[in-house]
Amino acid sequence: MQALQTLSIQKPETVAQAIALHRAGESRYLAGGTDLVPNLRRNIQKAQTLIDVSGLAELRGIHAGEQSLRIGAGVTLESLCEDATVRARAPLLAKAASLVAGPTHRICATVGGNLMQDTRCYFYNQSDWWRTTNEYCMKCEGDTCRVAPKSERCYACYSGDLAPALLALGAEADIAGPTGARREPIAALFADDGMRHLKLAPGDLLISIDVPLEAGWTADYEKLRIRGAIDFPLAGIAVALKRDGDRIAGLRVACTGLNSYPGLVSGLDALIGQKPDEAFHAALDKAVRKEIQPMASTLVAAGYRRRVAAGLARRLVERLYAAAA
Ligand SMILES: Cc1cc2nc3c(=O)[nH]c(=O)nc-3n(C[C@H](O)[C@H](O)[C@H](O)COP(=O)(O)OP(=O)(O)OC[C@H]3O[C@@H](n4cnc5c(N)ncnc54)[C@H](O)[C@@H]3O)c2cc1C
Ligand code: SF4
Repeated sequence: MQALQTLSIQKPETVAQAIALHRAGESRYLAGGTDLVPNLRRNIQKAQTLIDVSGLAELRGIHAGEQSLRIGAGVTLESLCEDATVRARAPLLAKAASLVAGPTHRICATVGGNLMQDTRCYFYNQSDWWRTTNEYCMKCEGDTCRVAPKSERCYACYSGDLAPALLALGAEADIAGPTGARREPIAALFADDGMRHLKLAPGDLLISIDVPLEAGWTADYEKLRIRGAIDFPLAGIAVALKRDGDRIAGLRVACTGLNSYPGLVSGLDALIGQKPDEAFHAALDKAVRKEIQPMASTLVAAGYRRRVAAGLARRLVERLYAAAA
């Protein structure tokens, strides 16, 4: 058993100050703390200094332009759910945010923290006492993966609800860091490795998200979870769809809770221009199953999560297609 960590907290007033305070391997940015604090208490994430970014003005606010929506990384999930512009122009985001954790979490949990949350696994998200008696695992303190003992990589699952919605909407992220500012597609933030799932460099801070507002598209999100609230997705699918007459004119499907990264399902280009008949759904089913790799890292069987993911994709496409008639 390890002693609880001793932490100091810094409260920068600007993004530049926050980045200057960051020390690789020692510091972590703190937003709402609903992911980071439980992990620090369990000793599965380490830090000497927390840099509290919740007071930074640059990370606040939701601004609607004609063609896109800018959402600050510090916006709380409750504000995202309740914002009239988001509900009217990007309802998928409001819905995905409303399915995160419970109301008390969403009051302080932020967009940035949701995207940047740690990956999860049954053998990792446990108390220090539990992990000691089970000889730890490769992601923290141990040397073997309990899910795939011969594997050299970790299969902990990315379980954020916002990322698939943002991927389906074609959103991009504005990032500031020690080497300057840049904009990247959401998919470029993540890697397929449960121990190193974020591609951000040390000190990089997510500032805001840019969500394009595309005319004629409809979108929705559904997740499988054990309880009806306060539970991470065991399989989550977001679909954005454009209908032209009886054909599918545009389709993006994104998943979470199934890999170590949130991902866009590839290989859907061949479905554009088709009617969503049985052949269409057979191809969609195949593409979803090809993209995902659920492992025995949760109490719910991987095979079941795989079947549910494919089923959710079909259900969402059918529903959105009918609603767009
Ligand atoms: C009981 C429980 C249930 C939960 N259920 C869900 C769920 O259903 N779905 C879900 O998606 N999540 C769930 N969560 C996880 C968490 O509550 C949310 O993901 C929340 O949105 C995290 O945001 P935060 O602001 O609290 O992040 P924090 O805990 O403050 O930070 C999380 C991580 O992001 C980093 N970070 C924060 N802001 C930035 C930034 N601007 N730039 C760079 N890095 C940053 C931090 O350094 C940290 O590593 C749950 C948590 C609990 C305790
Ligand atoms: S997938 Fe393996 S290494 Fe990763 S957290 Fe789970 S048991 Fe540990």
